[in-house]
Amino acid sequence: MSIQLKDNSLLKTQAYIDGQWVDGDTGATFEVRNPATGEVLANVASVGADETKRAIDAAEKAMASWKALPAKSRSDILERWYNLMLENQDDLAILMTAEQGKPLFESRGEVMYGASFMKWFAEEGKRVYGDVLPSTADRRSIVIKQPVGVVAAITPWNFPNAMITRKVAPALAVGCAIVLKPAAETPLSALALAELGERAGVPAGLFSVLPSANASAVGGEMTSNPTVKKLTFTGSTGVGKLLIKQCADTVKRTSMELGGNAPVIVFDDADLDKAVAGALTSKYRNSGQTCICANRLLVQDGIYDAFVEKFTAAVKEFRIGNGLEESTTHGPVITEKAVADIHAKVAAAVEQGATVETGGQLSELGSHFYEPTVLTNVTADMPLFKEEIFGPVAPVFKFGTEEEAIAMANDTEFGLASYVYTNDLGRVWRVSEGIDYGMVGVNETAISSEIIPFGGVKESGQGREGSKYGLDDYLETKYICIGGL
Ligand code: ADP
Repeated sequence: MSIQLKDNSLLKTQAYIDGQWVDGDTGATFEVRNPATGEVLANVASVGADETKRAIDAAEKAMASWKALPAKSRSDILERWYNLMLENQDDLAILMTAEQGKPLFESRGEVMYGASFMKWFAEEGKRVYGDVLPSTADRRSIVIKQPVGVVAAITPWNFPNAMITRKVAPALAVGCAIVLKPAAETPLSALALAELGERAGVPAGLFSVLPSANASAVGGEMTSNPTVKKLTFTGSTGVGKLLIKQCADTVKRTSMELGGNAPVIVFDDADLDKAVAGALTSKYRNSGQTCICANRLLVQDGIYDAFVEKFTAAVKEFRIGNGLEESTTHGPVITEKAVADIHAKVAAAVEQGATVETGGQLSELGSHFYEPTVLTNVTADMPLFKEEIFGPVAPVFKFGTEEEAIAMANDTEFGLASYVYTNDLGRVWRVSEGIDYGMVGVNETAISSEIIPFGGVKESGQGREGSKYGLDDYLETKYICIGGL
């Protein structure tokens, strides 16, 4: 590999099953490429259903003693894993930028964010409380919480580290075992995490990583195997719906973190500079490839022109390029197909009358880059109003009244993140309560952290990750009735 790590043993290319680094049964591998350069970074073992089944069997075995440990002992291991992530922050960030493309400063930030879930759930795992219910004279009714069982996780490429830790940390903290299929675009970050987990003392079998070029083979086993009691997924709504259907036969619990169509609603009374800055970060972070990215900027007519002018001027200052170069502010898009999909949405909007304020083209930098784009004269009948853009394109819609803004925000099947800029206290409450989203950022778009419940409503998913609520997804509630007192 052309990039150097301080600790090259963090670059793993085999699967990690039952505490062993192994090739797939068939010896098959797949290429992992740097999206900025097209360079092949590694050939990674590709596993299928049989290896997945072995990982699940090992998880079941490992879980028996893990769940019997005091919560503090599990917590100690997660804490060590957290410390190892911090110590190896630079290497984890380089690996992430190399395989995913985001600028190094974003990768470093994601490693910290990812590690924060280890620390948070190391602590929260010690606070799994039961309940004693009002009872009659001859009986006592008690509620206890128990680990849900073996968990299967499937994660995307846009956050190759944090989307894993916010599933793995709560699962392990409460006594579950977990098998993971990372995205084929970004398996190296997942495998490096497994290496650090092993060093932290995670027992064999408790956390297996199953890289694969055949997602449906691994996913098919995960969703049909009766030993798996829960599936947690982050990815597209289409695949999420398919996995929910597949889980129906064995009635598995599911947590789904799916697509979004986030509005940033900017009212006339907003602080213009803050609204522009917040919208810029939300829209263009990770080159627009996050599920909580601003998808639609909804701006009130009185502030519209000033907003567009400032916003567009700032976008023109971006420095697109290879994320490994420190001067890069915005990296590539993950694949050529993703670039083509983004451009198709822009072209369709322009065809229907949209104005390109800046960008609107494939970049001269190469086939994985798209020019940061701002569009005006956009309308609700254009595909980029209804569909997730997942790229560096900002359509700026105009609205007149508060009611209109709420109706536009809700005119989507999605309901993950939303953002509102206003200085009117009554409006803060009316709009926050009136829009159907799992998360609302008021005068703030950087809303994610380990202490908040991240998740969506409608077709954006079910369940919450992070916070005290994030444990619930990995716990069963059991009622015990003691009679005959
Ligand atoms: P994206 O479009 O962002 O790549 P996907 O939903 O396709 O989102 O991918 C998210 C994760 O789901 C990845 O790990 C991918 O390999 C996995 N995946 C895709 N299709 C399937 C499937 N049929 N079964 C199981 N996992 C799948």
